[in-house]
Amino acid sequence: MPESDDWRLRNAPPGLAGSAVRHRPYRMPRPSWDHDHCILCWQKIAEAPTPDAVHDGYVLANDDWLCPECFATLGERLGLHEVRDDRA
Ligand SMILES: [Zn+2]
Repeated sequence: MPESDDWRLRNAPPGLAGSAVRHRPYRMPRPSWDHDHCILCWQKIAEAPTPDAVHDGYVLANDDWLCPECFATLGERLGLHEVRDDRA
């Protein structure tokens, strides 16, 4: 695979491949927990208008987050599939 050296894939946790993800605007889980990071590239994901953060992403069943860029560029290679967000 010519692109298998993408540095972000080294951060992929075991079990990520083939996971279902849900696209969702970021909402802080608690007042004391106002952001997460993309598990692949460590992009900050937070509610608007947080500087230097994206404001939506793809969340996994275990509440890990992927940024839109990583889902767009690596989602297919990781076998990720988007499912409807029944919490939306
Ligand atoms: Zn990312």
